[in-house]
Amino acid sequence: MKIAIDGPAGAGKSTIARKVAAGLGYLYIDTGAMYRALTYHVLAQGLDPLDEEQVKSALDTLNLRLETASSEGINRVFLGAQEITEQIREPQVSQNVSAVSSHLSVRKAMVGLQKGLAKNGNVVMDGRDIGTAVMPDADLKIYLNASVEERAKRRQKELLARGVNVSLKELIEQISHRDFLDSTRKISPLCKADDAIEIDTTHLTVDQVVELVLTLVSRREKSV
Ligand code: C5P
Repeated sequence: MKIAIDGPAGAGKSTIARKVAAGLGYLYIDTGAMYRALTYHVLAQGLDPLDEEQVKSALDTLNLRLETASSEGINRVFLGAQEITEQIREPQVSQNVSAVSSHLSVRKAMVGLQKGLAKNGNVVMDGRDIGTAVMPDADLKIYLNASVEERAKRRQKELLARGVNVSLKELIEQISHRDFLDSTRKISPLCKADDAIEIDTTHLTVDQVVELVLTLVSRREKSV
């Protein structure tokens, strides 16, 4: 089966997708990590995220590799021999990733790569355009959502655990801005596929959402 999980920033997609994949023994692919790795590469070379020609030159030299850490299913990210799993979560990357990922050449290259990764099935992929552009043929499409306040609170908790203190107000602004850019871009914007099932996770725990998705998977399996 192919399972697509889309939704706005901080809705818990990666955590849920990773746990669902582990529960099913499927491959998990974090497509956001791919756009973040390119953004890291653009910034590391001092290129302008808004300039498509410059971003394209970074794309040409991108030596990206995703590795699944077997214990937790987390996608480890490498550029050549350099591991950048932690660095791609830095605020500078988060603040520039929407600009980098809005360019046509970037979307074509990444969607092509992601379609290749998905072709053998038994995969859970999370992102913004998985159910609409990458796996429009997915067997199950989930759209995860939560109130922006709740998403900011979750992000604040994650950051605090890493010793970073950012105000809730600032996080709400950052998340809302990224959602605005991702959902208004011209090419494959963030949007719920017509056949996706929307889950509002505002008042649900991670385990409850995972259980719900696994129930939907097994229902889907019985119906095919
Ligand atoms: O999922 P995550 O928040 O790590 O994604 C980072 C960014 O990558 C998003 O804000 C969006 O700009 C871009 N992205 C995308 N399409 C995807 C996944 C992520 O444009 N399928």
